[in-house]
Amino acid sequence: MGRPQCDVCSSQFSLATGRENLWIMQGQRSGGLILELEDAEFTLCYSCLERLPSEPTADDVNTLADHTDT
Ligand SMILES: [Zn+2]
Repeated sequence: MGRPQCDVCSSQFSLATGRENLWIMQGQRSGGLILELEDAEFTLCYSCLERLPSEPTADDVNTLADHTDT
């Protein structure tokens, strides 16, 4: 299995799962997670998550991706 890739900035990261998730939330910022919305699902790293509003929509993610130079 390959490492997950952020849908916005295309960086790869270690996906947080279960207990590991808690640890990452408390400590470091190099991870990411799957953001599940009503009509879409995005893989996001934490640095991109921080740039989204607290209740992001698919449009918010797409707008962020459009404004990221990669
Ligand atoms: Zn990202």
